[in-house]
Order: sequence, then structure tokens, then C-alpha cells
Amino acid sequence: MGIVVQKFGGTSVRDKERLFNVARIITETYEQSNSVVAVVSAQGDTTDDLIEKAAEINPSPSKREMDVLLSTGEQISISLLAMAIEAMGYPVKSLTGWQAGFFTDSNCGSARIHRVDTERLENELGKNNIVIVAGFQGINKYDDITTLGRGGSDTSAVAIAAALKADVCQIFTDVDGVYTADPRIVRNAKRLDEITYDEMIELATLGAQVLHNRSVELAKKYNVELEVLSSLERKPGTKVKEVVKVEKMLIKGVAKDDDVCRISAIGVPDVPGMAFKLFSMLAARKINVDIILQSIGRDGTKDISFTVALSQKQLALDALKDICSSMGVQEIVCDDDVSKVSIVGAGMQTNSGVASRMFEALGEANINIQMISTSEIKISVLIERADSKRALSAIHDAFFD
Ligand code: ASP
Ligand code: MG
Repeated sequence: MGIVVQKFGGTSVRDKERLFNVARIITETYEQSNSVVAVVSAQGDTTDDLIEKAAEINPSPSKREMDVLLSTGEQISISLLAMAIEAMGYPVKSLTGWQAGFFTDSNCGSARIHRVDTERLENELGKNNIVIVAGFQGINKYDDITTLGRGGSDTSAVAIAAALKADVCQIFTDVDGVYTADPRIVRNAKRLDEITYDEMIELATLGAQVLHNRSVELAKKYNVELEVLSSLERKPGTKVKEVVKVEKMLIKGVAKDDDVCRISAIGVPDVPGMAFKLFSMLAARKINVDIILQSIGRDGTKDISFTVALSQKQLALDALKDICSSMGVQEIVCDDDVSKVSIVGAGMQTNSGVASRMFEALGEANINIQMISTSEIKISVLIERADSKRALSAIHDAFFD
């Protein structure tokens, strides 16, 4: 007998048929003498629909009221799923985020979980109830409803698994695991049996949409064994854990991220302290900078380019709007038509030639590299957006064919 946390995403609970499908997965797990906590997302496109509805009323609503609204999506799912399980004759209780003990900070719209108070959860499990918890939500110290940011239900599930010291946290979704690339773009992408936390954090951060990256960070921190699997097909998925069996794979996956733009400061005076001044202007507005490239100085000036998320583009341009007069920079230019393509794999730490193989694949496909950045287990390149799908396939073929 163990404790199993199961998370079901929006597509897995989108209608009556899918709700009963999920109810069967949960009750089968319960029948195998497990305590089961299921965390669910809002049905189908509910969250997007709610965002649209809000925009019809007020183009810039307060984050507090947005969270009151968005949290209702998950509340619908938990009650309907509990009713399905009731209809099948099993004991069940649905709990909202606050009932389940999710205490967060006050950062509405992207709140961080401070703690999960498991008293109520344990109480219900002690009475042999199946517990259905609303993902993506909690309350702050003023008893206001908060949400964790888009895709946050994964993080709710991992937080419960960590708090209850569950045996496993299963993330059920509409794909059957983590792939070496997005199978919708790369036809011969392969499903992975296992991947390490670090590799999965990189892949999730670099654009693979299968898991919320914060959920994997949390899983790593509390050593929660994660499994990503399909709610529609009954077969093993991908296990995410600290150490995986030794295997020959050099890299685990290729990911692409279109949510990026490149900003360049052209003609920056080539004297000490300039990079500091420029990036402190961005830091002051909490703008996250990703890849940075500085050219060699020539004729007393240099160029500094960097990337930010598209959503932060305007903020970044505003932050730098006086830079030409205050720092003697010649001009600021911005390019939206770019994508970041990355490879991830712990294998590159101990193998040489990984970067050159990636660059060779891009060269052969006649794709120009604008910027490069690397860490111990990833290499990212910035390229023209129009080339990004071709780049993904070319790089994937170079490593996996
Ligand atoms: N319903 C929320 C969203 O669509 C949370 C989630 O699905 O994880 O972002
Ligand atoms: Mg969703």
C-alpha cells in the first residue's frame, strides 16, 4: 500500500467521456490498495476562455480578481470528477487549493508555494477517501486566492507528492511521455524511457511543453519520482529521476522556443562598466535576460546583443530608451523573427564534438546561427524563426538517426 499522486491535464478531463476515463484510472489505482490524491486542471480551453471573458469586461483587471476568476476553472473540474467517481460507487472528496492546504506568496498570477499543510488531506485519506484537488491555486496570508501561473497544476501535484512523501507522482497528459523532440514537428522523434531531473528542467525551460519547469525543480529538490504518461493509452511513460541507467545517448532532446526576441545595443563605447550599466537597467525592471553576446571592440565601440522573452520586449525597450543619450550608444535595434533551438543531454559533459555536430547539421541545412550559448548540459542557438522547424529536424537527425 502506497500513496500515489496523479495529475490530469485539461485535455484529459475535457468532457464527460474523458472524465469517466480519468475516474477509472483513479479508482483502479485505489483498488490496488493505494491512497490516491488526484490533482486536476481546468477542462479543455477553460482557462483561455476565462481570460477572454475578463478582457471583454476590463482590459487591465487587477491580478487579484483575475485569480479569483481563473481558479474557478479547476473548481469545476474537481467537482465533476468527484461526481463521476461517486457515480462509480467510490468514496471521494474534492478540495479546492485552500482546502487542500496550499499556502502561497501574494504574487497573484504567478504565486510561489510556501507550504502545503497536509492535515486535511491526511484526514481524508485516513477515512479511505479518494481526494481530488484543484491544481494551480492556493491562498496567501490574507486569505486571498492566488494562482501559480499557466501550466501550474503540474507544480501543485509535485508539491502534494513532496508534502505527503508519496511513492510516485504520475503526470497524465495527452502524449505518452517525453520525446526527443516535439513529435508534431519531428516525425521520427522517439519516446524516452527515462530522463534526469536536470535534463528535464533544461528541456522544459527551453521550450518542451510537456512539463511545467517549476514542477521538475520541485521534484528534484524533494526527490519526488515523476512519471509522464498518457491518460488515453495504458502503457508506461517516461520516468524523471535523479540518476538514470547508464545509456549511450549523447543528448536527450532537441527543443525550440519561439517566445524570444533579440535586442542589440549598437555602437556602445568600448570602455569598462558599459555592460554593467546596460544590464542593471534591465535588472532594475526584473527583466530576464537569456543569451548575451558582445562583439570585439573596434574603432572605440562594440555591440552588445541579448535575448528576452517576447512578453518582456516592450519593457526592455522602455528600460533602454534613454541609453543613447545617457551612455553614448548609437542605436538600439530589435528583431522578433528569431527562435531559440537547443539540445540537452548530460552526455555532453563527457563527450567532445557535440557542439560541432549540432553546428554541422545547421550548416548543411544552410541555416545561419546568430548567437550561441552553452551550459554544462545544453547548447542553444538563436536562428531566424522561419528556419526553426527545419533546424529542429536537421539537428534531431544528426543525433538520433
Ligand atoms: N488551467 C491552468 C492553465 O491552463 C493550469 C494548468 O492547466 O495547469 O494554465
Ligand atoms: Mg490548462
